[in-house]
Amino acid sequence: MSKKHDRLERINVRDNELLIAGRKASELLEIAGGSPLYVYSRTELNDRVKELRAVMPETLKLHYAIKANPMPAVVQHMSTMLDGLDVASHKEMLVALGTGVNPETISFAGPAKQVVELRAAVSAGIIVNVESILELERLYTISDELGIKPKVALRVNPDFELKSSGMKMAGGPKQFGIDAELMPEILANLDTSKIDFKGFHIFSGSQNLKADALIEAHGKTFELAARLTELSPSQVEHVNIGGGLGIPYFPGEKTLDVMPVSENLQRLLNNRKGAFQKAEIVMELGRYFVGDAGYYLCKVTDKKISRGQTYLMTDGGLHHHLSNSGNFGQVIRKNYPVLIANRLDSDETEKVEIVGPLCTPLDIVGAKLELPKADVNDIVVVFQSGAYGATASPQNFLSHPHVRELLI
Ligand SMILES: *Cc1c(COP(=O)(O)O)cnc(C)c1O
Repeated sequence: MSKKHDRLERINVRDNELLIAGRKASELLEIAGGSPLYVYSRTELNDRVKELRAVMPETLKLHYAIKANPMPAVVQHMSTMLDGLDVASHKEMLVALGTGVNPETISFAGPAKQVVELRAAVSAGIIVNVESILELERLYTISDELGIKPKVALRVNPDFELKSSGMKMAGGPKQFGIDAELMPEILANLDTSKIDFKGFHIFSGSQNLKADALIEAHGKTFELAARLTELSPSQVEHVNIGGGLGIPYFPGEKTLDVMPVSENLQRLLNNRKGAFQKAEIVMELGRYFVGDAGYYLCKVTDKKISRGQTYLMTDGGLHHHLSNSGNFGQVIRKNYPVLIANRLDSDETEKVEIVGPLCTPLDIVGAKLELPKADVNDIVVVFQSGAYGATASPQNFLSHPHVRELLI
C-alpha cells in the first residue's frame, strides 16, 4: 500500500478486491458496461450528510453546490437530504429544477451571468446571487419586461480572506461579488418595488482543512452580515455564509475536525442581535458532501519498463480526472490516494508510475507509487474522486471516449 491516507483506513475488501457500495470494483465495471468509470456510493453520500447534520447547529440550513458533481442522479439524491441547491450556470439550474425542489431553495451564483440566464432564473422563481452592479440593473430591467419581481441576494466580496484556503475567492480585488465597501450605498438605493430582496451571499474560499481558519472566517462573515443587515431596506431572510469545508487528498493532510467549527457557529447564531436574528443562515457545500463518496476506476492496458522505470498505462487519465493529474490549480503535483483495486492484499510490491493515454507528460494518474505488482487488465482506483471530476476535466482533449458514471 502507498503512503497511509485517512481514506484508506476505511475501505472494505472481499477476495483481495475493493468493495464500493458493497460491490467489487470489477462487478461495478461490468454494470457500467466498461471502464473508465466514476462510481458514487449512495450509502457514503447519505452517511456524510447525516454525520454533518448530527454535529452542525440544528437551525443551520445546508445546501449542495452542484458544480462539485452535477450528475443529475447525484443532484436528485442530494436534493432529498438537503435544504437547497446552489447552481452556477443555466444548465445546472435546469438540473436543479428537474429535482422538483421548491425553486426558492435554489440559488444561482457566478460571475458574468448572461441576460438569458438571468431571465430564465427570474422566470423559474429561483434566487439570483447578484455579482455586480450591472447585473442588478439588468434585473431591474427584467423585472419591468417580465412583470415578475426577481428574487435577489447580493453577493458580497468581503474585506477579509479565508486563510489556508485551497482556492481564495474573496478579499482584495476579485471578479466575485460586490465589494463590501460599496454595499452601504447599494443598499440605500435598492429599489424594492422592482426586486424581492432576500439577503446576502458571502463566500470566502474553498477546500479548507483548518478549523481555526474557518472559525475566524465565520466570525468575520457574521460581523459583516450583521452590519449589512442593519443597512437593509427590508427584513433579511437569509444569509449564505458559503462553505469552504475541505477534504484530505494528499499524504499528510488530516480530515477536518468539524466539531469546533460547529460549536463556533452555534455561538455566532446565539449571539446575533436585532433583525439579524430572524435571518436563516445557510452553508453551501460541494466537495465536502461528495468528494469522499466518489471513486475513479480505470484499467491497466499496458505495462512497460523504460530505463529501469516501470510504467502502468491505463485507459483513464487527465482527460477524465484533471484534478488528480495535478493540473487543476496545484502548484506541486502530489498523489491522490491510488491503489490497484483487485490486488489490495498482495504482498509483492513494485515501484510504478501510472500514466494515462494522452500524448502529454502531464497525463499522470499516480507518480512514484509503491503498489502491489500489477498487470494488464488490473483495475486502478483513485479515491477522493467524487468532486470536480468528470465535469471539471477536458474530456474532448485527444478525442478518447468520455468517462462513464454510476451512482449506486
Ligand atoms: C464552488 C462553489 C461552492 C462549492 O465549493 P466547495 O469547495 O466544493 O464546497 C460553493 N459556493 C460557491 C459560490 C461556489 O462557487
